[in-house]
Amino acid sequence: MTHVLPALPYAAEALEPHIDAQTMQIHHGKHHQAYVTNLNAAIEKAPELATWSLDDLNRRLSEVPDAVRTAVRNNGGGHWNHSLFWRLMAPHAGGEPTGAIGAAIASSFGAFGSFKEQLQAAGVGRFGSGWAWLVSDGGKLSIISTPNQDNPLMEGKHAILGVDVWEHAYYLKYQNRRADYLAAWWNVVNWTEVAKLYDAAK
Ligand code: MN
Repeated sequence: MTHVLPALPYAAEALEPHIDAQTMQIHHGKHHQAYVTNLNAAIEKAPELATWSLDDLNRRLSEVPDAVRTAVRNNGGGHWNHSLFWRLMAPHAGGEPTGAIGAAIASSFGAFGSFKEQLQAAGVGRFGSGWAWLVSDGGKLSIISTPNQDNPLMEGKHAILGVDVWEHAYYLKYQNRRADYLAAWWNVVNWTEVAKLYDAAK
């Protein structure tokens, strides 16, 4: 299969003022597109991967041929992570989760505020480029961070929520202030989508 860049589920300016339109345009149209292009180039060199789904390329990374494994890790990871990330945000979103996911976060982390602090600390504490995640592992919620474009799927875990802390995700608006970006990002978290991922992971 040829991998393709998914359309953004909203306009590039829809997440203003928290995430600016230019960042969204470059992040989606240039960075994410590059992961897709480079993933397709890697698969051309290992045609046996042509039938693998994007999930399988991440989940079964250890079975990917040595010659292209790093390229698939970086670009298949990048494609998977960003395809999820766009869906995890929405205009007029944010607030606190309700329902089963809200209850699970409260029981796993003590309170929503404590969960926010821990996810934010994971993002701020990630040295260099990477992601911070809320994951479900055997039904248990936890917070992890991954370097580069690695993701929970590569560790056999389910991603429930994730935030990109690469500088390209925030530098135009927030420069070096990653913590400010993360604080603003809570205003665009799409809890409806997070709830679906939580239900699917159970
Ligand atoms: Mn990114």
